[in-house]
Amino acid sequence: MILENGVIRTLEPTMPVARALAIADARIAGGVGVHERALASPEVVDLGGRCVLPGLNDAHVHFPTWSLAQRQVRLDAARTLDEALERVATAARDVPAGEWLRGHGWRSGDWAPATEPTKEALDRVTGGTPTALMARDYHSLWLNSAALARADGALEKRGGVVVRDEHGEPTGVLREECAWHFRDMYVRPTDDEMVDASREGVKLANSRGVTAVHDKDGWLGALAVFQRLQAEGALTLRVWESHPKDELDPLLALPLAGPFGNDLLRLGYVKAFMDGTLGSQTARMLGGSGVEITSREELEDVIIRAASRGFSVAVHAIGDRANRDALDAFEATRKTWTARRLRPRIEHAQLLAAEDLPRFERLGVAASVQFSHAPSDRDLADRFWTAKNYGAYAYRSLLDSGAVVANGSDAPIEELDPWAGVCAGVLRTNDDRPPWHPEQRVTLEQALQATCVTPVWLTGDERRRGKLIPGHDADLVVLDRDPFELEPDELPAVEVVATMVAGRWVHNPPPWD
Ligand SMILES: [Zn+2]
Repeated sequence: MILENGVIRTLEPTMPVARALAIADARIAGGVGVHERALASPEVVDLGGRCVLPGLNDAHVHFPTWSLAQRQVRLDAARTLDEALERVATAARDVPAGEWLRGHGWRSGDWAPATEPTKEALDRVTGGTPTALMARDYHSLWLNSAALARADGALEKRGGVVVRDEHGEPTGVLREECAWHFRDMYVRPTDDEMVDASREGVKLANSRGVTAVHDKDGWLGALAVFQRLQAEGALTLRVWESHPKDELDPLLALPLAGPFGNDLLRLGYVKAFMDGTLGSQTARMLGGSGVEITSREELEDVIIRAASRGFSVAVHAIGDRANRDALDAFEATRKTWTARRLRPRIEHAQLLAAEDLPRFERLGVAASVQFSHAPSDRDLADRFWTAKNYGAYAYRSLLDSGAVVANGSDAPIEELDPWAGVCAGVLRTNDDRPPWHPEQRVTLEQALQATCVTPVWLTGDERRRGKLIPGHDADLVVLDRDPFELEPDELPAVEVVATMVAGRWVHNPPPWD
């Protein structure tokens, strides 16, 4: 197949632009000159001036959770508690008797007047329907009385918080491990629900140019979900799957080494959490506040044991203390993981002390960030982290230091939409306001590198895909126009036209006119 009459952006610096691209089976076939015409009746696709880029990656998604969230009551952008409650009330009418009402996306920091959610407020609109509403950052869970009753008072869990009123009564909000434990015990979706939702999710992701994701829902059983999708031929993107740190022993009991799997689906790494989040005010700070989920010593142990079997570690760290502890742990274990050529990463790396920022490059630890979080979190960060904004969401500083920076969405916290992430990285705003900390804007090249190339490096596949060069897998996206010809503020108007994985159109095959 030859794609011609367009602009091919290879993302290979020695040959950045081509006018046509030849594809044989699943791979880029090579030369883009005229001689491919000599091939036996090649299929020719007229790009009509459109632009081709390597496929878009999302380096941090909770894929089944995001897929399920498409079907739940959404509370994002509610500006008051009452607005959130109205949406819940509407959804509550459609819940069959005996079933859960599930929702997500609330953030009490957005509400005016400032107030915290309570079970009483929820009871008024949900009655006896058990209701579980995840916060936007998935680190807090808001429950009504009917839901709380399921636990019969057993709510406490190490590494978590049960928010209580002045009488010691649970208010209905659980944080971190308490929230996750409750969800896992009482509100967990079935495997069939996850498979059905994720089947639709794969199509939606493909329609946004996504050819690969790094999933974070290993703890939820995502590997089996993706295996079922692959078996039925519905897995049309590549998955780099995580395994939860809490289940490390059973993983190491199996006679296998990582990464394990096939061309589309691999179990690649172990995922851990150092702390909470900015939105829940549970990020672990150098000032002493926050929640410690994994200690530095425990992380060292996880890194060494995972490395012994070829698995790298990806660790969530938001606060400056959490990031320092994680970097310390990677530094202390560096011999072990470099000997195995592993590529460890810190997820989010949201708030960094100035002296810690250069350590990503020095140690060879990647920063797996979410460009979209900067404009989305700007108000919260200004409120809670004012004195520290020098190192908050410091994507440009990380790149300038030489660090490896990959971009993801953290869907469902942000939408699974890598192009929106690219725009957020370049613009540092997602509304009418001027850029937030404009000195931290990244260039379009850097944003695409972080979206198309670096995630592939993190999976060890940089010789197989990530650029549109001969021999690489034909994973690509067709855009309606060439983003390099646009002014930055025109970037959000770019649209995905079609998506190809391994030489097969997985979204909107040509012709397009
Ligand atoms: Zn996440």
